[in-house]
Amino acid sequence: MEKKYVAPPYRIKMVEPIKMTTKEERIEKLKNAGYNPFSLRSEDVYIDLLTDSGTGAMSQFQWGALMQGDEAYAGSRSFFRFEGVVKDITNYQYVIPAHQGRGAEQVVLPQLITKKGMYFFSNMHFDTTRAHVELAGGRAVDVVIDECFDTVNFHPFKGNFDIEKLEKEIIEKGPENIAGIIMTITNNSAGGQPVSMENLRTVKEIAVKYNIKTIIDGARYAENAFFIKEREEGYQNKSIKEIAHEMFSYADILLMSAKKDGLVNMGGIIAIKDDFDLYQKCRTYIVPMEGFPTYGGLAGRDLEALAVGLEEALDEDYLRHRIDQARYLGDKLIAGGVPIQYPVGGHAVFVDCKKICPHIPFNEFPAQAVCNEVYIEAGVRAVEVGSFLLGRNPDTLENLESQLEFMRLTIPRRTYTYAHLDVVADAVISVYNRRETLVGLDFEYEPPVLRHFTARLKPIK
Ligand SMILES: *Cc1c(COP(=O)(O)O)cnc(C)c1O
Repeated sequence: MEKKYVAPPYRIKMVEPIKMTTKEERIEKLKNAGYNPFSLRSEDVYIDLLTDSGTGAMSQFQWGALMQGDEAYAGSRSFFRFEGVVKDITNYQYVIPAHQGRGAEQVVLPQLITKKGMYFFSNMHFDTTRAHVELAGGRAVDVVIDECFDTVNFHPFKGNFDIEKLEKEIIEKGPENIAGIIMTITNNSAGGQPVSMENLRTVKEIAVKYNIKTIIDGARYAENAFFIKEREEGYQNKSIKEIAHEMFSYADILLMSAKKDGLVNMGGIIAIKDDFDLYQKCRTYIVPMEGFPTYGGLAGRDLEALAVGLEEALDEDYLRHRIDQARYLGDKLIAGGVPIQYPVGGHAVFVDCKKICPHIPFNEFPAQAVCNEVYIEAGVRAVEVGSFLLGRNPDTLENLESQLEFMRLTIPRRTYTYAHLDVVADAVISVYNRRETLVGLDFEYEPPVLRHFTARLKPIK
């Protein structure tokens, strides 16, 4: 590997010891967990790559800010500090906190669906976003470019909207039936793949043409801005904040899970560019759903930590190292022959388990089988993103077949070192090298909805 990866732009001041386990112990733990890593206790996990959501490390400045929380029910000083930072990053006029991303979604999305059956278009709806569109009586349609589903070939912006498809769908469904266009940056469900500035600009032009609102689902907006700086002509000399300003200028609303690029363990954000009427509606609706509009389900101290975290996430040295960690793990796996989604996105490496276990059919969950072996191998917890997650057809009750069978290795922010990632890579490569010995899984218990969280499985002998 010739490429240099930047060292962390921080040093370690406090440590959280993690328990080491033996292979024999892990075999037993996994069996007790019904061969479903979601049911493992985190203390039995050595390196936890289940998600990057709320799992990052806060800085000394954030921990210091926690002490300054103003816990007033209304008009808290901490709210105004938080509001100032969000306005500065977005150039939007109105800001409301929420307890996390889905809290922001449940408040805003129902305001945009003014009649039943209206559509949202997105490059790709995140699961909870889709759920809130549907709960509010809307319909969610994805219009991402086809390159997104090609795991092998390089494309700098696999999260992009298919512009032709978007406009065609708008004309077909009728602009008056479109509740909004949701720009998911980065595209989480497709592996943290970025969306280009040019693509966002064109989507905005189309939205203006048909008088449709645009929403940024910006959980990883700073990572997206970094990719634009790295890969898009004309942005090399702009700061991450300047790039963020331009990205936000192409939307009317920001919905954000602050558990990602907010660098906090819990929090969410609603920001509205200038629509006072919508702001009033959200301010009214948030009270019974999340809380009074100056706290929205968060403690004053949470707002303080978030205000600091939002600014730290714009730091280019931080972002470069963050993105390099994902790239480092991806490059090691490629060097070991492991098929992955390429190029690697911002927050995770997606391992293509359909290619690793062609002998395991989709309804025996090849990616889940790989996740389980990786846990047994080294105590690394990954997550399946494939047919196990997808569930069943509600009418026929047949297992749905996912287009891709992924094991997602999600990297928490500022939490693990390159040495931890070496352990992960070695474990995955070693499982890959004995891939023929892996067997599929069958249900011992299957819950009726969201089965991947609580199902119990057993290996097929
Ligand atoms: C995480 C996430 C959400 C939901 O946010 P939560 O904080 O988990 O409720 C929405 N959209 C995207 C793109 C996300 O990554």
